[in-house]
Amino acid sequence: MVKSNGLRVVLFPLPLQGVINPMIQLAKILHSRGFSITVIHTRFNAPKASSHPLFTFVEIPDGLSETEATTEDVTLLLTLLNQNCESPFRDCLNKLFQSAEKEKERISCLIDDSGWVFTQPLSQSLNLPRLVLNTFKVSFFTNHFLLPQLRHLTLLDSKQDDPVEEFPPLRKKEVLQILTEVLDSYSDMMLEQTKASSGLIFMSCEELDQDSLTQAREYFNVPIFMMGPSHIQFPASSSSLLSPDESSISWLDKQEDKSVIYVSFGSISTVSKSELMEIAWGLSNTDQPFLWVVRGCSDVQGKEWTEAIPEELMERLKEKGKIVKWAPQQEVLKHRAIGGFLTHNGWNSTVESICEGVPMICLPFRWDQLLNARFVTEVWMVGIHLEGKIERNVIEKAIRRLLLETEGEATRERMELLKEKVGSSVKQNGSAYRSVESLIDYISSF
Ligand code: UDP
Repeated sequence: MVKSNGLRVVLFPLPLQGVINPMIQLAKILHSRGFSITVIHTRFNAPKASSHPLFTFVEIPDGLSETEATTEDVTLLLTLLNQNCESPFRDCLNKLFQSAEKEKERISCLIDDSGWVFTQPLSQSLNLPRLVLNTFKVSFFTNHFLLPQLRHLTLLDSKQDDPVEEFPPLRKKEVLQILTEVLDSYSDMMLEQTKASSGLIFMSCEELDQDSLTQAREYFNVPIFMMGPSHIQFPASSSSLLSPDESSISWLDKQEDKSVIYVSFGSISTVSKSELMEIAWGLSNTDQPFLWVVRGCSDVQGKEWTEAIPEELMERLKEKGKIVKWAPQQEVLKHRAIGGFLTHNGWNSTVESICEGVPMICLPFRWDQLLNARFVTEVWMVGIHLEGKIERNVIEKAIRRLLLETEGEATRERMELLKEKVGSSVKQNGSAYRSVESLIDYISSF
């Protein structure tokens, strides 16, 4: 039992799986160092309080309708959440302050996500330091504020693949795609409030973000902490919003070493029916076993997605692989049978794959995934990039290249080296270990 230090930290994650996981990991780190933890959360995608009996959970209403809550339009979702949650959050925080006063306990700071744009002025008015947890790569978070200045770029056919100097190693076509999701006013507000915060915490380490840390420190001019791939010490399985299909592991136990391709596109992105079919054929044509997470497809609503797959193909898929609705991803990636990860390159998935030394086939859909995929394939060279339309023969070929050919062996060797470097960041005196120590000193000093 850890001795309490009399300080409480209030956490307020955005209700997205990729944000809740690192936030709960951070809560576990802080709790293990004596802090009491309160998690304020929306009704939508509420974390399972029963999995964390040592934390206090407080729910606030988010006013989302059922349709709004199932949208894949993250920009719309963030706008609605920011509109609807400000007043309930303020009331909730005020109540927490009153009860802390009664119990002679001190709330030392608020840690929330950069996507909340009303919390900075509110915490300032309460004299409460606010730290911003960020679930992007440092270079994505920093450079994406420059995007509104790149609106002059246009998509000329011959120049689609030109690098964009302001946002390496992205191509022009990718910058233009990301730009379609940027709301300039929202972005300005987020930047102003990040600069006014008491500090930034990234779910990363120097080993993955050397390229941009100095620039980020100058740009934001606030202390920056790197909590590292903390799931190594504090697995995120307990913060899963969906129940992971544990039979995935017993199925993997029956497969040969490094033979299985794991396929998952995270908690938000879904493919269309025709893309789903291409992936299904690609997997079926390879002869390699696979574990495939399918949450549905974007244009088959109200029915089971399996109805989109012809019976004969479904039979072939069942013979070779396993399809689940949600997998215990971190355990899966750790399994000796996994040989590669066909991923959308969400930041959590990318880091989790690196930490287990699993080379990737990158199929990014949007936003920071496009940058993460470029880093995986061009900077760290630990994966294969799939570009353009999703096609069965491209998927089949990539799986073969990664699992069966010498190119795959070389990729795996580079991945082993990266795994070692990143893994050592959280060990005693590693870069993330030291950064977490200074974060704890910093929070204790408020
Ligand atoms: N995840 C999981 N089971 C699955 C798919 C994903 O536990 O079947 C977890 C995964 O381990 C990661 C998170 O969900 O921690 C997804 O976050 P990421 O940043 O990769 O993608 P996002 O969902 O934000 O697009």
